[in-house]
Amino acid sequence: TNENLVEKNASESVVKEKLRNVLPEIAFLGSSNVGKSSLLNSLLTNYQKSTLDKIAWASKRPGFTKSLNFFNIGNRFRLVDTPGYGYNSTSRQGNLTLHYLKNRKELIKCFLLISAEKGLNGNDMNMIEFMAENGVPFELVFTKMDKLKNVTMLEKQIEDNNIMKFPSSPQLLFTNSEVSKKCRKRYGVDYVRLLV
Ligand code: GDP
Repeated sequence: TNENLVEKNASESVVKEKLRNVLPEIAFLGSSNVGKSSLLNSLLTNYQKSTLDKIAWASKRPGFTKSLNFFNIGNRFRLVDTPGYGYNSTSRQGNLTLHYLKNRKELIKCFLLISAEKGLNGNDMNMIEFMAENGVPFELVFTKMDKLKNVTMLEKQIEDNNIMKFPSSPQLLFTNSEVSKKCRKRYGVDYVRLLV
C-alpha cells in the first residue's frame, strides 16, 4: 500500500547526515493493520514526489530489523512512520520506536492511530502511558470510521481509560481512508488534514 511513497536506498552515513538537518518531526504510531499506510498515503499524496525524501533508520540490534521511515516534507518538517506494533511488541527492551519517542528532540507531535472498529487495545494503552510519562505530546486518531459499529463502546473505552484526563488532553480525530480515496479519485485532492 506504499505505492505513493518515494523509495530511496541510503547508506547509514547518508541517513545520519540527512537526519542531522534539524526539522520538526511528527510521528505516526499504531497497531499493525490499523490503517497507518493508508492515512500516510492520504497525507503525502498532496505533495509533489520530488519534495518527498524517504529516509529509513533501521535498528542495528539483531532481531529488531524494523525501521523508522522519515519523510521530509519540502524541507519544512518530517513525517515519521513507525513499525506497527503487534503482540507484546511494546515491551521496552530494544524497542526502536520507544527509544525514538523518548530521546528525539525534534519530535513535536505524535498521532496514535486506533481502529474505530476494534477500539483501544493493551498495546495502545501502554503506548499512551509511555508518552504521557515521557512528556511526548500526542493526539488520538480513530481510523476506519466507516467500520464503527458501536459508538457507545468507543465512548466507554475513552471514559474507562481516562483518556481525556491525561495532562496533555489529547484531541480525538476521526478518519476514513475509504472516503478519502474516493475524494482523491474524484476531486484530485484529499480532505484529510490533521491538526498539528
Ligand atoms: P497499516 O498496517 O497500519 O499500514 O494499515 P494499512 O493502511 O495497510 O491498512 C490495513 C487494511 O485496512 C487495508 O486492507 C486497508 O485497505 C484497510 N483500511 C485502511 N484504512 C481504512 C478505512 O478507513 N476504512 C476501511 N474500511 N478500511 C481501511
